[in-house]
Amino acid sequence: MIIDGKQIAEELRHKLKKEIDQLPKNLSKPGLTVILIGDHPASQIYVRNKEKFAKEVGINSKLLKFEDTITEKYLIQEIHKLNDDSAVHGILVQLPLPSHIDSGKIISEINPAKDVDGFHPNNVGNLSSGNDALVPCTPYGCYLLLKKVIPNLSGLNAVIIGRSNINGKPMAQLLLKENCTVTITHSKTKNLKDLCLTADILVASVGSPQMVKADWVKKDCVIIDVGINRLEDHGTKKIVGDVDFENVKDLVKAITPVPGGVGPMTISCLLSNTVKAYKKINSI
Ligand code: NAP
Repeated sequence: MIIDGKQIAEELRHKLKKEIDQLPKNLSKPGLTVILIGDHPASQIYVRNKEKFAKEVGINSKLLKFEDTITEKYLIQEIHKLNDDSAVHGILVQLPLPSHIDSGKIISEINPAKDVDGFHPNNVGNLSSGNDALVPCTPYGCYLLLKKVIPNLSGLNAVIIGRSNINGKPMAQLLLKENCTVTITHSKTKNLKDLCLTADILVASVGSPQMVKADWVKKDCVIIDVGINRLEDHGTKKIVGDVDFENVKDLVKAITPVPGGVGPMTISCLLSNTVKAYKKINSI
């Protein structure tokens, strides 16, 4: 089974649109502000898509653009203004930031209740304590895709390749909460292939093209491929994941393609987090 992330992401946006349409009419609509610094081409595309889909579901989306010469102090002042703005329920600072700005410091200035990227230490702590939290969008999307294929994840062996703060670690927390037995692996892990062979669920978030081979996976495994890698193939550019999709897809129970798997879920989960933040702020 090929997991159709595009379709599942669209279903999620459809559900959110319905939810937003039914919100009390006396309240303002959910508001999302994205801060974009500099002219990083990939960031520009992500931000444009975020705005497009936000509008589509009925979220008031605003973009604040700054030159990459902006100071840390000025950026923090702008974040504080958004923290105090009752029309803003979600604040997202598009990463990466220019090197003179400390992204950890910036993220910790966002009101955690409006931290729709789920990177604020309060949200990270709440997630790892098993409490309610705004969860980082990509792992949350992976989790929703998995739940579509296996509604009850309890007792399954999950192996995660990659321990980044944005993907690997929060993914591990989500799966622990679902009573999976979780192994987090990384670049210093020994016998990675053998560990992968124990996985009922394999999440690859490495950034290494087609690294997971057919003889690394067991039958009935469900694979979530987070990787986005750009390859030159006979003069044409193509995007591949961290898994050798063509040679793995027929061996396993289910797998996400790249593109069209995890990627489309990320923006839908951002919108879902914005609605969640809105409801909590308005005690709905
Ligand atoms: P990252 O911060 O670079 O982390 C990569 C992780 O992979 C690290 O923990 C690293 O280990 C581990 N690793 C590197 N080489 C390895 C190896 N040979 N064996 C085992 N582990 C290895 O990456 P990320 O931010 O999590 O992103 C990973 C991929 O996901 C990238 O391709 C990125 O473009 C993609 N991505 C996709 C989305 C989406 O929406 N679909 C969102 C975000 C990212 P160490 O910790 O030991 O260095």
